[in-house]
Amino acid sequence: MQTTKKHDKLVIKDGWVICPVCEKGKLLLTRPDTAVRNLPRKCKRCGQETIVNIEAPEPASTVTSA
Ligand SMILES: [Zn+2]
Repeated sequence: MQTTKKHDKLVIKDGWVICPVCEKGKLLLTRPDTAVRNLPRKCKRCGQETIVNIEAPEPASTVTSA
């Protein structure tokens, strides 16, 4: 098992990406279909910069045909 630091996974609460450093600051407001890649966001609360990565959700199958 690896000793991973708490930086690989971001917590999203009520659509807000929560700062992994202070675990209280809100970094970014997201929507259910939001995808972000390597977006630096500075926490207003602790001032630490965090790279936000949010994978795009799986497409709920192709709804629109043709
Ligand atoms: Zn913070």
